[in-house]
Amino acid sequence: MSAGKESHAWFERALKVLPGGVDSPVRAFGSVGGTPLVVAAAEGATITDVDGRAYLDFVGSWGPLILGHAHPEIMAAVATACRHGTSYGAPCRPEIELAEQVVADYPGVEQVRFVSSGTEAVMSALRLARGATGRDLVVKFSGCYHGHVDHMLVAAGSGLVTLGQPSSAGVPEQFTALTRVLPLDDSAALEALFKAEGSQIAAVIIEPVPANNGLLLQRPEFLRQLRTLCDAHGALLIFDEVISGFRLGPGGAAERFGLTPDIATFGKVIGGGMPVGAFAARRELMRELAPQGRVYQAGTLSGNPVAMTAGLATLRKLHADDGWQQLDELGTYLQATVSSVLAEAAIDASLARCGSMFWLALHAAEPPRTAEAIDARAASSYAAVFASLLEHGIALAPSAYEVGFLSLAHTRADIDRLAAQLGQAFTALPT
Ligand code: PMP
Repeated sequence: MSAGKESHAWFERALKVLPGGVDSPVRAFGSVGGTPLVVAAAEGATITDVDGRAYLDFVGSWGPLILGHAHPEIMAAVATACRHGTSYGAPCRPEIELAEQVVADYPGVEQVRFVSSGTEAVMSALRLARGATGRDLVVKFSGCYHGHVDHMLVAAGSGLVTLGQPSSAGVPEQFTALTRVLPLDDSAALEALFKAEGSQIAAVIIEPVPANNGLLLQRPEFLRQLRTLCDAHGALLIFDEVISGFRLGPGGAAERFGLTPDIATFGKVIGGGMPVGAFAARRELMRELAPQGRVYQAGTLSGNPVAMTAGLATLRKLHADDGWQQLDELGTYLQATVSSVLAEAAIDASLARCGSMFWLALHAAEPPRTAEAIDARAASSYAAVFASLLEHGIALAPSAYEVGFLSLAHTRADIDRLAAQLGQAFTALPT
């Protein structure tokens, strides 16, 4: 599939003034080839490019748009908020109301601090954990992505895996010297690390539903073991729920697994499509933050009234319409339709799914649980599937390692269309 004339022309201009033509690497289509669509508008489950071509969208801006694009109620709430000014740099009602909603919804949290991105949420949560425990080490898992925080860019997922780099240039070794990286799903490695260094570990951070290197669904026992070890050694457990928070349900993955982290980080859905991140914990921990405590954290646009309004309207709508229940039903339908198509495919292929998040695991009869278990052929096979779908007006994420998202704007007919087109794409795939 080649992008249309207008997309080409705009992207040529972009390449001159934006590095790689983009503001976030995976948008550049680097791993699937071709020219990115330059988007002109989006509504419901459809995005339209500058050539006027419409695509059924399963990217959803990488997760935030759980109600679909340009939902009329969210747009109206944002328009009203804008009329009252776009930023105050002072406390405002919607930030207090959104914090109240988070505290009511998410297990074990009593206070929230809002920031402007998931990266910032993680960076601040880790600082809080180190400040509160007086310890320096942090532990992450290979295959989990926690934003582009310097000391988290170690064997990270997301765009970096696609680029084939274990970490980023520009991050001094000393910055990552206090980060330990473990494989997912490896109880023995976890046990051994705690045995060796448990008393120095400030925090363990994990995506409880790892969704940045494929969808690497974890055994609940592994997550329970993590909780137990953190408790036994006085380390804090951070659930990075930037993707899963308010997508899997009001209590995110924590509620699904019946586990309460010490700190949770949020982004995406909580901002209703506006730039928002947040981290939350019990009061005793949050009290360590400035202005009350000694852990410094601040932001000019944090708690922005327009962004808070969009997030609040989104969460209220999900509650009012039983949105999460509907999304689970759509997800179940997708699993049934897509799985039966994959069963007929010429290559081994399976579907990993959790609620409204899904991933095509290629060259895998069962979805893998670790980044290391992903078949090396997956990327090139995915590129062919991606191109075939785009040709037929369906937009999946432009990377084999990124998950797809359902929104409340998707219908069963949309899912049928996806399944049928996947069937065609798999028929054409070289084995
Ligand atoms: N944590 C997770 C789990 C994420 O998926 C992401 C982004 N995809 C981030 C953190 C970083 O969020 P942002 O891109 O908003 O900085």
